[in-house]
Amino acid sequence: EAETKESLRKETILYLDGVSVSFDGFKAINNLSFLLQKGEMRAIIGPNGAGKTTMMDIITGKTRPDEGEVFFDGDIDLTKHDEPAIATMGIGRKFQKPTVFEGHTVEDNLALALSGSRSIFASIFHHRDEEEEARITGILETIRLYPLRETSAANLSHGQKQWLEIGMLLAQDPKVLLVDEPVAGMTDAETEETARLLRDIARDHSVVVVEHDMGFVRDLGVKVTCLHEGSVLSEGSIDHVSSDPKVVEVYLGR
Ligand code: ADP
Repeated sequence: EAETKESLRKETILYLDGVSVSFDGFKAINNLSFLLQKGEMRAIIGPNGAGKTTMMDIITGKTRPDEGEVFFDGDIDLTKHDEPAIATMGIGRKFQKPTVFEGHTVEDNLALALSGSRSIFASIFHHRDEEEEARITGILETIRLYPLRETSAANLSHGQKQWLEIGMLLAQDPKVLLVDEPVAGMTDAETEETARLLRDIARDHSVVVVEHDMGFVRDLGVKVTCLHEGSVLSEGSIDHVSSDPKVVEVYLGR
């Protein structure tokens, strides 16, 4: 059995098995198992307090589990690394609120993200070679902001700022992207475009999307995991999960 588990794990980009974490005796995550295959996009849903944020915190090393296994890219044991180390391994996380450099253009925001450790001044004024230009152009196209590349980030809509921040994560070349409620506060048109945008990104990245908006989750068209009380309540297609009596009860019961 140990051998099957290991070969199963090798295929995954994220592997959580039997993970638990308590805060002051309260089990926020309770024997959680979650597998994300390399190249897969998954939507995570669940009522408030289900443990979605804590699960992301465990993956990024912000919270250390009390029990269980957490592996990245098949065989990197994340429980042996701290948050700064994990951040350099290729796990990109986007929080709900967009954080972009408002005083800089869209293009310069991406240049900043691309250069990582260079200073803001050095990144913007440094001569970009063809390869960097091509990467920035590619990301601008992916995030639907090529026509706005010379616009100040301060002048973008809320939705466009979310896309820019996703682009800044892409610039860091992550293996897996964790995206928290990307469409909160977006217009309907932006929400629909975001589903397409994430599907484009998922062609060559593994992605986890935490989201409340069921219409959007349906648009993503990917496997869904519903968390409740820190473990998986239901998993499968959106049709399967949304009609699962256990899920219906949890959502109606509030
Ligand atoms: P979700 O993101 O699904 O809304 P959370 O992961 O934020 O859920 O929270 C899961 C449970 O753990 C909640 O009951 C929450 O109050 C609790 N919790 C989360 N973080 C902490 C913390 N640092 N200290 C105490 N309780 C926490």
